[in-house]
Amino acid sequence: MKVAVFSARRYDRAMLSESNATHGHELTFQEARLGPETAALAAGFPAVCVFVNDAVDAPVLEALARGGTRLVCTRSTGFNQIDLRAAGRLGIRVARVADYSPYSVAEFAVGLLLSLNRHIHRAHNRTRDGNFELDGLMGFDLHGRTAGVIGTGKIGRVFARIMAGFGCRMLGHDPFPSPEFEALGGRYVPLEELARESDVVSLHCPLAEGTRHVVGAGFLAAAKPGLLLVNTSRGGLLDTQAAIEALKSRRLGGLAMDVYENEASLFFEDRSSEIIPDDLIQRLVSFPNVLLTGHQAFFTREAMGTICATTLESITAFERGEALANEVTAR
Ligand code: NAD
Repeated sequence: MKVAVFSARRYDRAMLSESNATHGHELTFQEARLGPETAALAAGFPAVCVFVNDAVDAPVLEALARGGTRLVCTRSTGFNQIDLRAAGRLGIRVARVADYSPYSVAEFAVGLLLSLNRHIHRAHNRTRDGNFELDGLMGFDLHGRTAGVIGTGKIGRVFARIMAGFGCRMLGHDPFPSPEFEALGGRYVPLEELARESDVVSLHCPLAEGTRHVVGAGFLAAAKPGLLLVNTSRGGLLDTQAAIEALKSRRLGGLAMDVYENEASLFFEDRSSEIIPDDLIQRLVSFPNVLLTGHQAFFTREAMGTICATTLESITAFERGEALANEVTAR
C-alpha cells in the first residue's frame, strides 16, 4: 500500500524501512508536518502515517479524503491531534499504537524526577566548568515521601512500581481504578487531596476534553508547597501560565516537562540559531528549577521498534480488509 509518512526524521525512516521488509509497503517520507499547507502531499496515498504534532483536524481530514486517503495511523499512543468525529464522518479509519514499551516513558519520568530533585543536570554543567561547589544542589530523599500519580494506566502503573521501589507512599487519581496500583500500596483519592498530600506528582493520563489543564491554578494553589511536578504525558494537561506563577511564588518547587502545550511549532527541530518567539517557553527555561526535554520519553530502541512494527501491521491489516486491532473511533 502507498503510505505517506509525515514528520519523518532520520530515525523514523531507518526503523520504518527496516520493519517494512516484512510488509512491502511503498513508503514515501515527508519531513514536513501534516497540516493545511502540506495535506496535498498525501494526494493519491490511501494510507497516511503521522506523529504527535501533526495537525489532523477536520479541514486537513477533508483534504486527505479528497485525495483518496482512507487510513490514518499515528505512531503514538495518544491521538488527541486527530479529530476522530471528522474522520468517522469522512470514512477515514484511524489507528494508533496502543501498546508499546510503557517502561520507556515511565523510566524517563523517573529520570526527570531524579534530575530535578537532585539537580543532576545543573551539577553536570558546573563540573564541566570546573565548579565543584554544592550550594544550591540539595535535594530530598524520595524514600518515605508521597508520590501522586494522575492516570494509573499502563505507564502510570510502571511509574508507580518504580516509586514503590524507592519506598514512596502512593496516591492515585483515575476514573478507572487499577487493582495493580492498589496492590502496590497505592490509594485512590480526589485530585485536590492528591495535590495537598503529594511531594511529587507525575502526569500519565491522556489529553482529552476533560483533562485539559487538569493541573491548573486550582491544583497548584492546593498543592503542598515545594511540590515537584513531572509531565511526560501531554503538554495540554498543564496550564503553563499557572505553572509559571506557581514557580514564581515558590509553591511549585520544581517542574520537569517532556511535553509542552505549544510544542507543535517548536519541537523535533534544531532551533538553536533562531529567535524563539514563544515567551512562555523562554520564561520556563529561565527558571533554575525547570527541566525541559523535547518529547523524547518514548525514544528507546524497544519502543521505536514496536511503534514501527505496530504501525505497519495496522496498514497491512487494513489492506487485507482484516480487523484493525489498534483502531480508535469517536465515542
Ligand atoms: P493508558 O490508556 O494505559 O492510561 C491512561 C490512564 O489515564 C487510564 O487509566 C485512564 O483511565 C486515565 N485517565 C483518563 N482520564 C483521566 C482523568 N481525568 N484523570 C486521571 N486519569 C485519567 O495510557 P498510557 O499508555 O499509560 O499512556 C498515557 C499517556 O502518556 C498517553 O495518553 C500519552 O498522552 C502519553 N505518552 C507520552 C509519551 C511521550 O513520549 N512523552 C509517550 C507515550 C505516551
